[in-house]
Amino acid sequence: MTDKVNFGDELVSPEEKTRRVGAVFSSVARRYDIMNDLMSGGMHRLWKDRFVARVKPRAGEDILDMAGGTGDVAFRMARRGAHVTVADINADMLEVGKERARSQGLTGLEWKVENAEALSFPHATFDAYTIVFGIRNVTDIPAALREAHRVVKRGGRFYCMEFSSSDWPGFSNLYEAFASNVIPRIGKAVANDEESYRYLVESIRRFPRPEEFKRMMVDAGFARAAAEPMLGGLVTIHSGWKI
Ligand code: SAM
Repeated sequence: MTDKVNFGDELVSPEEKTRRVGAVFSSVARRYDIMNDLMSGGMHRLWKDRFVARVKPRAGEDILDMAGGTGDVAFRMARRGAHVTVADINADMLEVGKERARSQGLTGLEWKVENAEALSFPHATFDAYTIVFGIRNVTDIPAALREAHRVVKRGGRFYCMEFSSSDWPGFSNLYEAFASNVIPRIGKAVANDEESYRYLVESIRRFPRPEEFKRMMVDAGFARAAAEPMLGGLVTIHSGWKI
């Protein structure tokens, strides 16, 4: 019998989880960018700027932006001259991203439907691998980390930004209240999709804490695994190297 995994607070089979995550992002794709602004009060833009400043993309580098969705992080890296492949399991998110790239006059990006758990790229293809607000949605996170390690070159960098439960007293309660009550309501009002946004909140709550995630990175083969908390630990940038 296959082990069950969490889809938000529900236990489902791994295949069912991947299918349902796909449905969530197909359902939110057209409203994804405006919802990000509403749910974070525009903060996601600053977090992504900070993230890309940490990655330090260089002109001509090959970077894989995994779970790249509608391209927010990829666009920032491409503007610095990197050659970016945007990969995502969901073709609807990528379609929205391609339209946005066209409307912003951004060329040279590559777009590929890929499952982070089993990539089609050869070993040692990329100088860096990025994944932003993506890995918590992946059914088998250790498999995705092993694949990240496989496709980066020796000396290549791994960067992941993800939500994490905050340890700040008071702040975490406030965030919990906001996340459980306000975000699904915004989802309902703006995207008419309360369930998808409830899943997003639950998936954030269930994501491993930074120390545990660091251990998972080391198990996948990354060296110098580090976690940099931002905003009282609400968001963490994880980084590591392939040596
Ligand atoms: N990185 C983008 C950003 O920060 O705006 C998009 C983040 S969005 C919250 C999460 C993305 O993860 C979705 O586009 C979803 O399709 C993608 N995703 C979920 N599971 C995946 C998997 N197994 N492999 C690749 N992408 C996946």
